[in-house]
Amino acid sequence: MCVTGEIMKYAIETNKLTKKYGNFLAVDELDMKVKNKSIFGFLGPNGAGKTTSIKMLTCLIKATSGKGIVAGYDISKNPNEVREKIGMVPQLVSLYSDLTARENVELCADYYGVTKEDKEDRMDDLMELVDIKYAENKLVKQMSGGQKQKVSVVASLIHRPDILFLDEPTIGLDPTTKMVLWDLIQELNDEGHTIILCSHDMYEVEKLCENIAIMNQGKLVAYNTPQNLKDNLIIEKEKLFIKENPVLADLQNEIMDSNNVNDFKLNNDLKKELDTYIPTTQLSVMGENLTDETVEEIKGLTNVYSTKFNHDGRITMDLDQFSNKNGINEVIKIILKNNGVVTSISTNDPSLEDVFVNLTSKKYNKLDEEAK
Ligand code: ATP
Repeated sequence: MCVTGEIMKYAIETNKLTKKYGNFLAVDELDMKVKNKSIFGFLGPNGAGKTTSIKMLTCLIKATSGKGIVAGYDISKNPNEVREKIGMVPQLVSLYSDLTARENVELCADYYGVTKEDKEDRMDDLMELVDIKYAENKLVKQMSGGQKQKVSVVASLIHRPDILFLDEPTIGLDPTTKMVLWDLIQELNDEGHTIILCSHDMYEVEKLCENIAIMNQGKLVAYNTPQNLKDNLIIEKEKLFIKENPVLADLQNEIMDSNNVNDFKLNNDLKKELDTYIPTTQLSVMGENLTDETVEEIKGLTNVYSTKFNHDGRITMDLDQFSNKNGINEVIKIILKNNGVVTSISTNDPSLEDVFVNLTSKKYNKLDEEAK
């Protein structure tokens, strides 16, 4: 049974969705929810199972087992209804190269039964939106990669799908064309389309996606907001660091076991140990009117280590990771008090790329196992 768009919370829900090719498990019991009207990033290394998952969700291939609900319809029971509600821009543009851009889009519109009147209006609007109208009568085989990608987007939207699947839509595009497509994705989402974006471009994913899922070897290994994934990595690294130091690990376990995080004595012991073995974040500050006196004063802060005044005028230091935010505030306060101006500030906090590598590379997976 279909759930109407108004009350539908999730555009996609899967339950143990699985695909086997012979004995090979390409997608292994995928449990995933995609919020309706959101932009959802679907990441994973080559061969992780993203395209196979998308092919099942778009009813191009049948699942071996498990369940998938797309736009309120069951992918195995109502594939035709699912197809009407979705649009797909595949990894490799699949247009007829001997037809013009307009003829390709017309074919798609006819396939979905769009009326003649709607077809003309929508084609004009969409072509203007992605800025490809000027080339509408050009043969696809004479078009550039970016132009073909834009025609592909128009063709996938002609029947006004609720959910749009984009499989690496900006691969090989120049930076300007990429930005045009990013704006378009955002605009489509603002209009109420749910977007599923498969990409290896971490900047693109972080810029556009509210939630992301990361697949590795057929399994879902992470599902969260980009920021939470980065924050979790900091916490994991702290855990890893504590694990490396048996004294700290014992103290932390004692605190956990005593079930009282306010246990003053234990926390105090932990703090004493930390004073001799501290995880740090690197902070780099660029500014105007930064002086030796300012640097000396920063060196006096208790949570700041290895402060250095560099030749290029940049001050670099290591901050105690457990009081990172306060540390940054204290450093800025000292600079301002001494009539300095901060022009740029950066930390080596983890990027989404670090999260990706951490969750999908074998080396890091091993470290994680040891840290558990
Ligand atoms: P990429 O980022 O490289 O596009 P992906 O995450 O989309 O990778 P899939 O294309 O889903 O990966 O492939 C997942 C695994 O399933 C791979 O090991 C691939 O070789 C295998 N696979 C995909 N299609 C088939 C098929 N038709 N027959 C057998 N194995 C397949």
